Amino acid sequence: MQYLDFSEALENPDNEYEFSGRVSPEIKPSGIAPHKLAGDADISFKYFADYDANLHLNGYVRVPVVFVCDRCGAVFEKNLFLNLDEEISPKIDEDSELTYDLPRIEIDKFITSFILASFPSKVLCREDCKGLCPRCGANLNDGDCGCKNEETK
Ligand SMILES: [Zn+2]
Ligand SMILES: [Zn+2]
Repeated sequence: MQYLDFSEALENPDNEYEFSGRVSPEIKPSGIAPHKLAGDADISFKYFADYDANLHLNGYVRVPVVFVCDRCGAVFEKNLFLNLDEEISPKIDEDSELTYDLPRIEIDKFITSFILASFPSKVLCREDCKGLCPRCGANLNDGDCGCKNEETK
């Protein structure tokens, strides 16, 4: 388990610090079904505490994923880039979604839930994916299946 201890940032508000590393998110396939992670996540972010002890994180997470195209079902591997822009507040602030009680973050856990929360709901193998023919089920990216004429009658 990796921890980020940010007590130094709390003692020096507005001073910027950096963190980068690699984590192995533990995400069950059902969490991001039907896609699955294909490797470790690289993370890199800057962080600082403000004068109200809120911790601000800004950076990115990059993780290779085996995606399944939402439109045609093609399976392809690609890096998923997620912008990390989070604010974590001390636990006294009940309105805040992310809170801390100790000045540290369990990086593995934090990044795992971040990936789950930010995972794109629809993924296409390419922007102009033509999908499957509603009649014969052929993958239209491979060419015209011949049903088209009937459809436009
Ligand atoms: Zn597709
Ligand atoms: Zn067809």
